[in-house]
Amino acid sequence: MRMMLLVFLAVWAAGSVVAVEKASPLKVDYVAKKVAEDVFVIHGPKGIPSPENQGFMNNPGFVITPGGVVVVDPGSSVQVGEMVLAQIRKRTDKPVVAVFNTHVHGDHWLGNQAIFEAFPEVKIHAHPKMMERVEKGAGIQWLEIMLDLTKGATAGTEVVSANTAVNEGREIEVGGVVFRVLHDGQSHTDNDIMILLPQKKVVFLGDNAGYGRMLRLNDGSFQGNIRNLNRALASGATVFVPGHGPTAGAEAATEYRDYLQAIYDGVKEFFEDDLSDFEIKPKLLPRLARWKDWTDFDSLVGSHISLAYLEVEAAEF
Ligand SMILES: [Zn+2]
Repeated sequence: MRMMLLVFLAVWAAGSVVAVEKASPLKVDYVAKKVAEDVFVIHGPKGIPSPENQGFMNNPGFVITPGGVVVVDPGSSVQVGEMVLAQIRKRTDKPVVAVFNTHVHGDHWLGNQAIFEAFPEVKIHAHPKMMERVEKGAGIQWLEIMLDLTKGATAGTEVVSANTAVNEGREIEVGGVVFRVLHDGQSHTDNDIMILLPQKKVVFLGDNAGYGRMLRLNDGSFQGNIRNLNRALASGATVFVPGHGPTAGAEAATEYRDYLQAIYDGVKEFFEDDLSDFEIKPKLLPRLARWKDWTDFDSLVGSHISLAYLEVEAAEF
């Protein structure tokens, strides 16, 4: 609510309707990197949404099949979605026939609008809990967060939610390419899906992993996130696309998993010594040196310890 008020005040203070006009296209010429045969990822900047990155910060992916193009996470705004379409156009003139949204966080899916406007027949897939959350207002909240953090660079973006619910085990085939949906309970959120392409040995992890960048875990579960990453690692995939940070081999999943495990195990150990979360932090930090240079480590490690503390405490009773 406060965010809505801030946006309203910003528009009002500007004394014009400029803020509701569509903002400019992305300035930086991003590159789609080929990560497997016919599979591409546009790796976004690692920071949080800002006027400089125009809100672009995730890793939109696309897969070209004989039956059309499939997009995973078209980004945080209509501008990012249009950039993704432009990148697709450099590689193929086939239509986009399907989209997957890995979870409800708006930096991953507000770009749906651009895909839907260009291809109104497109099937946009997401977990039913994500669709329910968007229905209840999460999309509007994310629009406001993006507008606020980017100072209007995402203006013109509208909520276009998924239109097709998918859950654990669902397989969708497009042009002979299989997309298998993995969902095993609460992880980074309660509505994450990972997309496994068994033939291409590629897995889109969504925000179950950042690589070189820490992620908020306020809506998630340490144990669930670790479990889901172990599952991705056992899936037969050799190419791992994290929600943020570079695509890589298994290390794009193991590094973040090991971090979550180090936090959870450390907190559990000190919890059993009757330490409080603020006493635990200085004792645990030396064990986390491996990740200290990751983007947003300093701003998130405290919250991760507090969240792990609550989870450990809940597991004890
Ligand atoms: Zn997220």
